[in-house]
Amino acid sequence: MTAEEVLEGLDEEQRQAASTLTGPLCILAGAGTGKTRAITHRIAYGVRAGVYDPHRLLAVTFTARAAAEMRSRLNSLGAPGVQARTFHAAALRQLQYFWPLAIGGTMPQILDHKVRLLAEAARRLHITTDRASLRDLAGEIEWAKVSTLTPDSYLEVAEEGAGRPEPGGVDHRTFAKLYQSYEDVKLDKHLIDFEDVLLLTVGILEDDERVAAQVRQQYRHFVVDEYQDVSPLQQRLLDLWLGGREEICVVGDAAQTIYSFTGATPDFLLNFTSRHKDATVVKLIRDYRSTPEVVQLANTLLSDRTREQARLTDPPAWPDPLRLVSQKSHGPTPQLTQHAEDDAEASWIAEQIGVLQQRGVPLSEIAVLYRTNGQSQAFEQALAQAGISYQLRGSERFFSRAEVREALAALRTSSLVEEGGDTVPEAVRAVLSSHGWRREAPETTGAVRERWESMAALVSLADQLDAEREDFTMKAFLAELEERSAAQHAPTVEGVTLASLHSAKGLEWDAVFLAGLNEGLMPITFAKEQKEIDEERRLFYVGITRARTYLSMSSASSRHSGGRGKRQPSRFLRPLRQELGLEEPTRRIAPSSGSKNPNSSARSKKTATCSSCGTVLSVPTEVKRRRCSECPARYDEALFERLREWRSAQAKELEVPAFM
Ligand code: ATP
Ligand code: MG
Repeated sequence: MTAEEVLEGLDEEQRQAASTLTGPLCILAGAGTGKTRAITHRIAYGVRAGVYDPHRLLAVTFTARAAAEMRSRLNSLGAPGVQARTFHAAALRQLQYFWPLAIGGTMPQILDHKVRLLAEAARRLHITTDRASLRDLAGEIEWAKVSTLTPDSYLEVAEEGAGRPEPGGVDHRTFAKLYQSYEDVKLDKHLIDFEDVLLLTVGILEDDERVAAQVRQQYRHFVVDEYQDVSPLQQRLLDLWLGGREEICVVGDAAQTIYSFTGATPDFLLNFTSRHKDATVVKLIRDYRSTPEVVQLANTLLSDRTREQARLTDPPAWPDPLRLVSQKSHGPTPQLTQHAEDDAEASWIAEQIGVLQQRGVPLSEIAVLYRTNGQSQAFEQALAQAGISYQLRGSERFFSRAEVREALAALRTSSLVEEGGDTVPEAVRAVLSSHGWRREAPETTGAVRERWESMAALVSLADQLDAEREDFTMKAFLAELEERSAAQHAPTVEGVTLASLHSAKGLEWDAVFLAGLNEGLMPITFAKEQKEIDEERRLFYVGITRARTYLSMSSASSRHSGGRGKRQPSRFLRPLRQELGLEEPTRRIAPSSGSKNPNSSARSKKTATCSSCGTVLSVPTEVKRRRCSECPARYDEALFERLREWRSAQAKELEVPAFM
């Protein structure tokens, strides 16, 4: 392929970007405008034109998968040999190579179980905590490290201004001690972690001129995709690689900044022209991915924020939205539906996927996206029941999760002494409560929240089956769980993608179902400040713009697994509803309508009045108990106590694995 041929298939602005081979270049553009395509073609064009030596160019992408895709694209464009890597992979190679020269001896191994090490650090400090909290604490250590904060400087930053939420259930001071202890344990064991790879590479590049000179000699040109989500540490590394040179091309969309919680910031993208005075800036606005109908909704979502900002006296930063213009022909009108319950929503989605499949849409071209990984259970269940294969991206299948396996072990043990006067849901609640599960959702993201959602899903399933079946026993419940587990583990060759919105970044599908668009999930409960709400909006924008042709957005008025009470549809849907010409309320779909679940219609018929406050009840277990979820004294505390006592006695005898 000749250099000129590489430029074919690009529009005018993309061509301008691709043919600007020298100097700082910043491509600012919205989702689906061909940013990734433009930089890939730019590299290939530079190589084919003889301006770039492929071995002297480093392209940095956000995920290993994106890097592999770029390498394969470059191969097919006639530019093999270019290094396309993540920041980590690039840094690791340099660290391994230069370790003997800069540090000497053997490079420590990279630890693969941060949580295990952190557990030891906690033990040294006599801090008792559970595994999910440890996972969240490990996340906070990652954040501190990519923000280049030591345990001491962490304290100052965490407590200043609005402060940082307390991680994993410990206060900032305790966290700082734990962070220090973790670093000590790591050092004692001659291990390094993932963030150390970046920190140490930065360290040797800063301290050792020989290393810096060699790296700069090797790489002359740098390209960074998804630059809006670069962390201060990654930027520092990039600056060191550049060493004051200007051969840098960055690509980003500030409206897609969704990783702030990991320390990423769009500031480097937004301030690129102040840092590089001679930068060429190219804006792309033609959207090649999505239909006009989908693009219109994405534009509306962003412009709604701009209107809102105009009303504020002290507007927080919000990027000037680049209005996208679709290049595709018209497609179906996006769907916006509201369901009574989350499992009815999931069954409806499974049904719609079945329809798309019949129309010839391959399953690999369909995705269901949600806010938290914990939400996947309802979809795993609905798809398994409908016989539709699926694969999870970025998280484990429900029945493979450690907390679910442990919960099942605990339920199995409890079934051995079923006395059961107790209904199955009561027994399930009691067993899980004795392991620390609480009815209220934790006001946090991450592993603690995910564990809670998994437990809540088990409780809600017990409620549902108890209402549907006569003489429902713990044995029957466990048998059902076994069966579901087996169904969900059927091997998949090609399947629907189930993924969190975060892990859908940069990807695209013909059909996208955005599910659980309710207040509390989108935006998520703990997003309270304006900047947090803004990030949630951007996440929603990322979700919408993943769809090529078919887009479905749905909400569920009550979530079995999502805590108590009714849930309102997401505030972000308001302008979209107007855009779609839908009256309030949006189309409501009854839980039983066309559902493949043979039991759901039986369930929907049951209603009763709460014996305590008179509220009309619809949730099956509440019907049975005749007491609504809002009324106090819902559980038999004595029963709990008895089960707790029993559990601890049994646990000693049977050596039941610790649940957390
Ligand atoms: P995101 O912001 O989601 O990362 P992006 O801006 O990187 O999106 P790409 O993934 O590069 O966009 O492109 C989106 C889709 O549009 C891809 O399927 C790509 O092949 C297609 N595309 C981009 N530019 C063109 C073009 N000039 N002609 C035809 N198709 C194009
Ligand atoms: Mg891209």
